[in-house]
Amino acid sequence: MTAALVRGGYVLTASTSDRIPAVIRHGAVHIVDGRIAAVDTYDALRSAHPDIPVHGGVNDIVTPGFVNTHGHFSEGLITGIASQFTLWEWIHALIRPVSPFLDREKAYVGTLLAGAQMLMSGITTANDMFVADPRPGAPVTPGVVDALDELNLRGVVSFGAGDIGSTLGVQAEFDEHDALLEAARSSRLSTFRVGIGAVGGQSEEMFARSVDYATGGGHGVHIHLQEIREEVTATVQRTGVTAVAHCEREGLFRAPTLAAHCVWLDPHDRDILARNRVGVAHNPVSNMILASGVAPVAELRRLGVDVGIGVDGPASNDSQDMMQAIKSTALLARVHHQQATALSAVDAFEMATIGGARALRMDQTIGSLEPGKAADLVQFDGDSLALANIHDPYQAVVFAAGARDISSVWVDGECSVRDGVLTRVDAAEVVARSRPLAAQLVTAAGLPHLSDLADTAEGARP
Ligand SMILES: [Zn+2]
Repeated sequence: MTAALVRGGYVLTASTSDRIPAVIRHGAVHIVDGRIAAVDTYDALRSAHPDIPVHGGVNDIVTPGFVNTHGHFSEGLITGIASQFTLWEWIHALIRPVSPFLDREKAYVGTLLAGAQMLMSGITTANDMFVADPRPGAPVTPGVVDALDELNLRGVVSFGAGDIGSTLGVQAEFDEHDALLEAARSSRLSTFRVGIGAVGGQSEEMFARSVDYATGGGHGVHIHLQEIREEVTATVQRTGVTAVAHCEREGLFRAPTLAAHCVWLDPHDRDILARNRVGVAHNPVSNMILASGVAPVAELRRLGVDVGIGVDGPASNDSQDMMQAIKSTALLARVHHQQATALSAVDAFEMATIGGARALRMDQTIGSLEPGKAADLVQFDGDSLALANIHDPYQAVVFAAGARDISSVWVDGECSVRDGVLTRVDAAEVVARSRPLAAQLVTAAGLPHLSDLADTAEGARP
């Protein structure tokens, strides 16, 4: 049996039950064999367990691990180019040209690179959609699962399938789903979902088959929905209804569904999401970078929709930093509504933890510090400059702290980051290994011109 106490001046539990308070002053979490055994004051737990190791200090803040509800490890090697485009231009200029050249090794190294950054920003669960051309006979996506296991990062993995514009046929897409499902089944930390790139990316035949694959197999779904206005218009022209209404009509929402973005929703779409218990991933940073719009987060939450926060992909955010995404969630809501009370620090914190877990229907196992749940925790260094004086622990975490103030991150009771350093992989080695692969990918896809344009006055000119 392995056991430990993780203590802090504040333990923010994100608990919504009466048994565990939301804030425990001078608290601790008792971890046994990867699970949370108890959450209480440090004194109570220490006197009951005087001989087990203690991590953390009297000034630290301990929180649940953050749940990143949307990202793309497929973009791990193409960070920091093409940010001068809006979504469809960006897909056309960057994502499509790269897709045929992604293989299992690039998936593996790209996931190591992005996943390591996620861990260091407090993410303990990453909901991913890998967007690439399937490779018949040599599946790409198992590389994601390999890397997540190696990092000790919990994954919800999916392949963003779509047959429109592909010459490989529908079966190749499902073969890639099958390969990823098999990899996830043999993984300690990853679970599988059926990825649908977008409604507009699948033929009617394929969409129907995706619905059957998900509902028949008992799988969850991960899909992009109504990120930009053009998607809504195109889907209405093709199907007669919005993408959200189309998904309901075709039976997709019978499977637990996580919808990324949901920026352009009419009132009917909002009701559909609420009544089908569709979880929503809000991605404030990529929505701002790609100029997509502002998701109606406050209203969705009022309707009872579970809304989590996503960092989105390394090519559309581009940082894989949950602390930036959490702060941006509060800031974007406030500037949008021109109201400082539009989204509180507590709201943003809950969205990043238990809200994200609910959106993924994983709140029985992760998202809060409660007995029986997986020991996924973040420890903030209370002796850092930013946290020298904590007047309100939620505002300290959401507005004052950054990833640099995170000292340790536990996933499933194991330290993936200790004293600010990754425990399972060598960061310098990951960086070195990624460089030739990234250069090769950008050259093969014919992209060097994109970084020449960059965000210079020339490239940004409308
Ligand atoms: Zn996305």
